[in-house]
Amino acid sequence: MVSRKQDLSQGYLFDCGAGTEPVLVSACLLGIPCRWHGRRPKKREKLIERLKKKYVIVPVCPEQLGGMPTPRTSEKLEGSGADVLDGRLRIVAPETRKDVTRFHVNGAKYTLEIATIVGARRAYLKAGSPSCDREGVTGEVLGRSGIKVIRVG
Ligand code: SF4
Repeated sequence: MVSRKQDLSQGYLFDCGAGTEPVLVSACLLGIPCRWHGRRPKKREKLIERLKKKYVIVPVCPEQLGGMPTPRTSEKLEGSGADVLDGRLRIVAPETRKDVTRFHVNGAKYTLEIATIVGARRAYLKAGSPSCDREGVTGEVLGRSGIKVIRVG
């Protein structure tokens, strides 16, 4: 029989740690290959170790949750998530010139749904993303709902 420790060393299971409070974390910070280019990003080992002592880590990728594929187009916000949510800004993929606003907004909505289901009051989100940054669409939605967003550079 394979022990839980062995499973973890083989990377089959994600060790949610010793903490009890749930916290949302951008999945790409955990090494999950969900970024737009589809390559495996660097796993933030120190951050993960620190968070695991206090929290149960709940990985989320708002762009995937919103219905975008991986790999996908890469967008940059020409303003803020607040601009998008308040209807002042649309998000357009530079490669295809397609309006992808709804994917980012839906991703934010479903991420908030997950936060509500698990009772998360904090989120560690990747900086520089049109969704995950504190100034991004998801960061703004979570912040407006009273969830503390910590920006991870
Ligand atoms: Fe990472 Fe967030 Fe971008 Fe998903 S949407 S790849 S979790 S920064």
